[in-house]
Amino acid sequence: VIRIGQPEHSAITTCAYCGVGCGFKAEMKGNTVVRMTPWKDGQANEGHSCIKGRFAWGYATHKDRITKPMIRKSISDPWREVSWEEAFAYTASEFRRIQAKYGRDSVGGIVSSRCTNEEGYLVQKLVRAAFGNNNVDTCARVCHSPTGYGLGQTFGTSAGTQTFKSVEQSDVILVIGANPTDGHPVFGSRMKKRLREGARLIVIDPRRIDMVKSPHVKADFHLQLKPGTNVAVLTALAHVIVTEGLLADEYIAERCDPKAFGEWKAFVARADNSPEAMADTTGVPAELVRGAARLYATGGNAAIYYGLGVTEHSQGSTAVMAIANLAMATGNVGREGVGVNPLRGQNNVQGSCDMGSFPHELPGYRHISDSTTRALFEDAWGVTLNPEPGLRIPNMFEAAIGGSFKALYCEGEDIVQSDPNTQHVAEALMSMECIVVQDLFLNETAKYAHVFLPGSSFLEKDGTFTNAERRISRVRKVMPPLGGYSDWEVTCKLAEALGYPMPYRNPEEIMDEIARLTPTFHGVSYRKIDELGSVQWPCNESAPEGTPTMHIGGFVRGKGRFIITQYIGTDEKVTRMYPLLLTTGRILSQYNVGAQTRRTDNNQWHEEDRLEIHPHDAEDRGINDGDWVGIKSRAGETVLRAVVSERMQPGVVYTTFHFPESGANVITTDNSDWATNCPEYKVTAVQVMPVTQP
Ligand code: SF4
Repeated sequence: VIRIGQPEHSAITTCAYCGVGCGFKAEMKGNTVVRMTPWKDGQANEGHSCIKGRFAWGYATHKDRITKPMIRKSISDPWREVSWEEAFAYTASEFRRIQAKYGRDSVGGIVSSRCTNEEGYLVQKLVRAAFGNNNVDTCARVCHSPTGYGLGQTFGTSAGTQTFKSVEQSDVILVIGANPTDGHPVFGSRMKKRLREGARLIVIDPRRIDMVKSPHVKADFHLQLKPGTNVAVLTALAHVIVTEGLLADEYIAERCDPKAFGEWKAFVARADNSPEAMADTTGVPAELVRGAARLYATGGNAAIYYGLGVTEHSQGSTAVMAIANLAMATGNVGREGVGVNPLRGQNNVQGSCDMGSFPHELPGYRHISDSTTRALFEDAWGVTLNPEPGLRIPNMFEAAIGGSFKALYCEGEDIVQSDPNTQHVAEALMSMECIVVQDLFLNETAKYAHVFLPGSSFLEKDGTFTNAERRISRVRKVMPPLGGYSDWEVTCKLAEALGYPMPYRNPEEIMDEIARLTPTFHGVSYRKIDELGSVQWPCNESAPEGTPTMHIGGFVRGKGRFIITQYIGTDEKVTRMYPLLLTTGRILSQYNVGAQTRRTDNNQWHEEDRLEIHPHDAEDRGINDGDWVGIKSRAGETVLRAVVSERMQPGVVYTTFHFPESGANVITTDNSDWATNCPEYKVTAVQVMPVTQP
């Protein structure tokens, strides 16, 4: 029997975990959550939830929370609790000292996609207006930055095309590089419901994920490709569509750039792009590719859903564009039931990107070099903006090791645990003179920090999150911030200490400024969100109540642009020394670096990261289920417990990255997407051998 107190007050808010963005009623007794009830009117979840949103909120008041600011001169010194005033004054003086000594560009900021839109907006404003450079980046860099690039190039806007509800109109669902059952459970269930009603399913994934075959759901085609070959498979699918006359000719003639289409068509029709020619590379039998292509092109409304298994590759952006090509080629963009839909890993990846948290873009995806846009922000902010793009996260690390980047403000992001090649990240951080971590807990990055500013959980602040379907929903404060300030207030106080006051009275004023300066947000306000429950951008004069489906009648960029997607194999090759390919992902009960879920009862379902290995590979190495194994790559090595599983294909192993002690990112390498530097987490050549218990 679970006894809970009677709630005394409640508020509707939004889950702070994945990009589904489920609405919840937070029921409180005093300052304690007694229950999180899925909101029946929540447009993203319609009253449903998963075990993260519903049960994993106890971290907000966990004993590990740090509620006092702390500073230390050196990372070998003990932390010293200080007042907020001292922490702000010290940070400001260090940043100004460093800029005076090393130059204006020697400092920067990183903001998490877990933060609200308003917080993301403030961090990029702080960097641009108070630091005076564009060295701001978001952890979307390491997950969906290729989505921003790829969909921007092809369709003209960096966002998914549909609502989640649209899947109810789909006849064919293509899931590539995503595991909705674990990563986006509420939408995964919605998808399965549609499949049970008769929709057909194509899964493209190196693992036999749950959706391939689970009770009541079975994929019509599972293209179990080798890690790193998405572009080859997607181009082979396009080859079949072109050479078998399955193109949506009228749609293409009316809506797409004819020159780009002609060049693309000639490229994909080449014999070397056929499923037969690609079979050795991809490991997928040609007849499966042909069958899947025919189903996608002729099966009715066909929708593509994809995740980090597409983006986190050296050809991540190319794969996103290959997906967009397929959708345009078959006329599957611009109405309900179809489209291209990135499943965003974190709650506010979409919003973080929308808010200009990238070094080359101001809010609303407008390039920093555009003088008209710059003038708009310069006028509003009272500063002169630097027209040159700043440093991306990996460039910040390189510059730190090179000696030119010396101070970092890091809000809500544990870069040591979540970024690839941990040794490289640590070396970069140790090369800096002032690292400021603003977070709930002393995370792995805080081990290298000089200033710790207590962060606030989603229960301690007002604001908005934007989910994977561009839906902006309210986050409502139900308890006072344990450290005294909400995150947005901390950023404002820091700006003030740096001599650039940002005197907002509340997050609503921040959103009003965002709406004023961002055309796709012109019609967004807290009042409207409160009235409608949520709003999907673009929301402006042309779409006052928002836009559920994008690209109706025409693409945002004008004519849809096909792009040639030449497959280029990753540099990460298997060798005799490293004969297996490691790929990484998530599991249902834990979330990302686990900082929140590990501090909840969700730990009972999964309390360590493990290595999944195919029975043949296990047998070859004398590994039994539950044995400890050493995993070694060119970047580093770690030890995990093995799970022998036929979910894997021979030659491929898999792990999650939820526990710092497992060191999954000690093994991953510095390879990254050619266009965006999104790390290639999904392909690492490794050796796996049995070891004694560590
Ligand atoms: Fe939260 Fe995602 Fe689960 Fe919904 S599906 S409750 S948003 S973690």
